[in-house]
Amino acid sequence: SNPPFTDKNAYDWSSEEEEPDGRAQPVQVLVVKDDHSFELDEAALSRILLAEEVRDREVVAVSVAGAFRKGKSFLMDFMLRYMYSQGSDDWLGDPDDPLVGFSWRGGSERETTGIQIWSEVFLVDKPDGRKVAVLLMDTQGTFDSQSTLRDSATVFALSTMISSMQVYNISQNVQEDDLQHLQLFTEYGRLAMEETFLKPFQSLIFLVRDWSFPYEFPYGQEGGMKFLEKRLKISENQHEELQNVRKHIHSCFTNISCFLMPHPGLKVATNPHFDGRLKEIDRDFISNLRILVPWLLSPQNLDLKEINGNNITCRGLLEYFKAYIKIYQG
Ligand code: GDP
Ligand code: MG
Repeated sequence: SNPPFTDKNAYDWSSEEEEPDGRAQPVQVLVVKDDHSFELDEAALSRILLAEEVRDREVVAVSVAGAFRKGKSFLMDFMLRYMYSQGSDDWLGDPDDPLVGFSWRGGSERETTGIQIWSEVFLVDKPDGRKVAVLLMDTQGTFDSQSTLRDSATVFALSTMISSMQVYNISQNVQEDDLQHLQLFTEYGRLAMEETFLKPFQSLIFLVRDWSFPYEFPYGQEGGMKFLEKRLKISENQHEELQNVRKHIHSCFTNISCFLMPHPGLKVATNPHFDGRLKEIDRDFISNLRILVPWLLSPQNLDLKEINGNNITCRGLLEYFKAYIKIYQG
């Protein structure tokens, strides 16, 4: 397994939130426990969202969600590289650097269901001159039994309510059960929101990993959109249930998009000693990563978090986080 950080590869942790050891790191803010209860680490969340530099800034909250072992944290670590090297063309970094940040690893043992956020909130200048705060969230679900599916649904719903951009990370294809899960997740979220605010969710990005039909739909966002259009199409001769899933998804999100990612290669997928260095990742994957990450995170593409039509600040987001959790704790 990989430690979150290795000394030889630390970022320059000089700005914003400083952890006791001086480095930014992932912080588990929400845990789903074995008895299916939730625990929010309010102190940790407050430390991050109320840091002086960010608390009054409007916030962009980017979440990556989905099942275990599908490369979410791996992707987030590239997002971190991008955020730490704003504006630089070689943000992908040195081909020999191990990949660090959110811990990612092979193997199949379970990991905590819940939400982790990066302790450093990034400040970014939007093209219109506004300085906004960008929060990165890594979300895990289990999906292996009825009860864990319920936990995962709650985690997914919460992260969807909190985020302005939800990346739904799925493997190989958009299967019917991926859509059904999504319906369940967003149904939970919508029920919760109806009690408080009548606002739909914002951006949903289907991220399909290990896409293996590029000759049918090419890698990237355009191929993704065409593919998704076909997958989400509602037609007369479809079973009613299939139609409903699709209508529901359309009714929940302001923006829906899709990106098709190639397989990263066998070293990434199967070598237990692989440490994330670019040199050992397939070229196709890297060239699409080079497109995907700025497509999500470049200043002009960052969607500010809106609730009831208003942009909210980090301080505001903290309050919503606490309020939403209460709904689920009943
Ligand atoms: P997470 O549980 O979704 O956060 O998954 P991780 O990021 O921890 O990655 C789990 C395993 O999948 C690691 O061994 C990675 O090397 C590997 N991996 C990362 N990205 C991909 C991908 O796009 N495709 C495949 N097949 N494996 C990947
Ligand atoms: Mg992970």
